[in-house]
Amino acid sequence: MKVLVAGAGIGGLVAAGRLAELGLDVEVIEKSPSIEKMRYDWHDDVSPKIFRRLGIEIPKEHWKKQSWTFCTTGEAVVREFFQDETDPDLSIERTPLNKTLSEYATTRGAKIRFSAVAQAPVIKDGRVCGLVIDGKEELADFVLDSAGAYSPIRSQLPEEFKITKFPGDDEVFEVYRAFVKKKEGMENEKLAVKVYMKHLNKTGISWAIPDVSDNTCMNVLIGKVCGLTDEDLKEGLDDLKKFNPVLTDNVVRGGYKVRIPVRFPLTRMVANGYAAIGDAAFMTIPMLGSGIASSMLSATLLGDTIKESMDAGINDSALFDANNLWGYQVKVYQEFGYQHLAVDIMKRWMLTCDCLDWLFGSKILSNDDLGAAASGKPIKLTAKFALQKMGVIKPKDLGKVLGMMPMLLNSNKAAKIGNKIPKKYNLKAIDSWEKKVFKVEKVNG
Ligand SMILES: Cc1cc2nc3c(=O)[nH]c(=O)nc-3n(C[C@H](O)[C@H](O)[C@H](O)COP(=O)(O)OP(=O)(O)OC[C@H]3O[C@@H](n4cnc5c(N)ncnc54)[C@H](O)[C@@H]3O)c2cc1C
Repeated sequence: MKVLVAGAGIGGLVAAGRLAELGLDVEVIEKSPSIEKMRYDWHDDVSPKIFRRLGIEIPKEHWKKQSWTFCTTGEAVVREFFQDETDPDLSIERTPLNKTLSEYATTRGAKIRFSAVAQAPVIKDGRVCGLVIDGKEELADFVLDSAGAYSPIRSQLPEEFKITKFPGDDEVFEVYRAFVKKKEGMENEKLAVKVYMKHLNKTGISWAIPDVSDNTCMNVLIGKVCGLTDEDLKEGLDDLKKFNPVLTDNVVRGGYKVRIPVRFPLTRMVANGYAAIGDAAFMTIPMLGSGIASSMLSATLLGDTIKESMDAGINDSALFDANNLWGYQVKVYQEFGYQHLAVDIMKRWMLTCDCLDWLFGSKILSNDDLGAAASGKPIKLTAKFALQKMGVIKPKDLGKVLGMMPMLLNSNKAAKIGNKIPKKYNLKAIDSWEKKVFKVEKVNG
C-alpha cells in the first residue's frame, strides 16, 4: 500500500520510518533540494526525553540549554527561572537533526524525493487518494500532511471534511531570528539569558541569549502575534540593544522572519485517506511555539494506531479510513493535546493582560509553575495549589488574583474537555466535542 508524506517535516520523517517498518511503501515529498537546505540552519531546544522514548540517538551537535531570566518591559521585573538541571532541555542543531530523522526514515525503507512540490490533495468520493506533485496527480492509499502550518494540502481539503484550513492571525507568532556577533571584550558570564515577556507591551516575546554553540555570538529573537511589522522589528531590536549593549548588527545566521503556529491542535486532524502531523496539525506548545518533541511523539502515536488496525486484521486501504485513523487523534489529545488547549487559554490571557510586572514580581507564580507553562503543561487548580498560594497572596493582591480566576477556571475546563475527546469515530459526538472546544477557547473554528 502506498503512502505519500507531503513535506519532510519532523513528524513526517519519523512517521515515514514507522510506517515503512510496518511494510508500507512510503515516499516523502520535500520541496527543498537536499537535507542541508531544509528549513533553518540554527539550533533549537528539545527535551531529550522524546529521543529516549523513541530510541533515536540525539545528534552530537547539541548543548545544554541555559536557564532563562524572564524580564518584563523595560526590565521592570527580572525573574530567574531555574530549569531541571538533572535532565535539562538540549539545544540541537537543525541540520544534523534533519539528517538523523531522514536516516531514521530511509534505513526503515522510506524514500525521500527532494525538489518536489506537493501542490494539492487529489480527492475522489470524499476521500484523499493522492497528491498533485509538480503538476501531476500521483495516487496513494494514504496522504500524511507534514507540510507545516500553511500546508497547501490541508488548506485545499473539501469543506465537508470540516478541517480548519488556516490558523487565525492571533494564532501565529511572526518571528525574526538572528545570530549576531557579540561586541568584542564583553565577558560571557556577565550576559544574562534574557527573555522579554510582552516586549515593549506588544503581544509577543523577544530574547537576547548568549549562543551556546558559539561564544562569539548572541541568539536574538523578536516575535509577535498578528504580524511583526518592520517598525515592530526596529523598535524591538533597538530596545534589546539598549538593555544588551553586547549586541551588534553583524548577522552570522538567520536574520529573517518566519511564522510559528501558537494555538491548540486541530480538532479534526484525520479524514478518509488523510492525517495531519506537526505544524500542519498545530501541535506546537501555544506558549512558546516548540513543536519538535510533540511532532516526533505524534509520529509514533500514528504508527501505533495503524499497527493496532493491522493487528486487528485490517490489511487493505480501510486502514486509512477516518474511523481507523481517529485513534491517532485520540492518542494525541490524551498525550498532550488536552494540555495545549489549557495552555492556549493561559497564553492568550498573558498576551493581553496588563499585570505582568505584578505577576512576575510576586511569588504567585512559582518556579515550577513557570516551568510547567513553558513546557506546555497547564497550572492545575487543586486544593494543594490553593493552599500553597494562600501563603503568598498579600491582601492587596487579592483583586488581581481574583481577576486571574476566570482564566484559570477556563484553562482547567479546557483540559477536561480535551481529555474527554470521543474515543470512537462518531460524527455526532465529534461535532458536539468540537463545539465545546471552540466555546471554551472562544474561537469560531
Ligand atoms: C524560529 C523558530 C524557532 C523554533 N524553536 C523551536 C524550539 O526551540 N523547540 C521546538 O521544539 N520547536 C521550535 N520551533 C518549532 C518547530 O520548528 C516545529 O514545530 C517543528 O519543526 C514541527 O514542524 P514541522 O516539521 O511539522 O513543519 P516544518 O518545520 O514547517 O516543516 C515542513 C516541511 O515541509 C516542507 N514543505 C512545505 N510545503 C511543502 C510542499 N508544498 N511540498 C513539499 N514540501 C513542502 C518544508 O520544506 C519543510 O521541510 C521553532 C520554529 C521556528 C520557526
